[in-house]
Amino acid sequence: GPYLRIGGLEIPYVDRARAIQTIQKSFEDRRQIRVAFCNANTMLQAFESREYARTLSRCLVLNDGVGVDICSQLVNGRRFEQNLNGTDLTPALLGATRRELRIFLLGAKPGVAEEAGRRLEERFPRHRIVGVRDGYFADHEASEVVAEINAAAPDLVLVALGNPRQETFVAEHAAAMDAPAIMMVGALLDFIAG
Ligand code: UDP
Repeated sequence: GPYLRIGGLEIPYVDRARAIQTIQKSFEDRRQIRVAFCNANTMLQAFESREYARTLSRCLVLNDGVGVDICSQLVNGRRFEQNLNGTDLTPALLGATRRELRIFLLGAKPGVAEEAGRRLEERFPRHRIVGVRDGYFADHEASEVVAEINAAAPDLVLVALGNPRQETFVAEHAAAMDAPAIMMVGALLDFIAG
């Protein structure tokens, strides 16, 4: 399909419904999908660092913000259908998914993921928070974190470590995770916990 290709990134022209369907497909076929959101800031980081661009190379990269849209207008003479970001797309995905999802929350300060988990279970009683872990572990503890995630057998891992840490973490460790869907969602857990 058509993409905005820029700075080593490929951002497809998909709307919210299509993005949700693509993620849901991974719950059925168990082929892992990694979802990242690209805004003007991450676009700039990709320009400045090939390595950062590479961390996003095996991800579904979705357009977040007016900067990316302007860029698209300039490069391809085409706008994106909708703005997509983790804060809106994640609850939309949970609301649209009929089957029970097992969800692991990774990130934010100690206590925040627990609170976010309680609120998500209230709002989406069909789904289950199967594990939480704060985002202030050391790099050498990453494999322990991955083991925790795998022990919880989640369908969906929300990685909220900010960037570029979340992108680096996913690039390095997603292959070792059994989860079919991994989404990099920035400050989402703080927003949900309130
Ligand atoms: N965060 C984390 N571990 C880190 C750094 C940040 O869990 O080592 C969390 C932080 O607590 C916040 C989220 O990542 O919940 C997003 O952080 P920030 O707003 O700095 O990043 P952004 O996504 O806005 O770039």
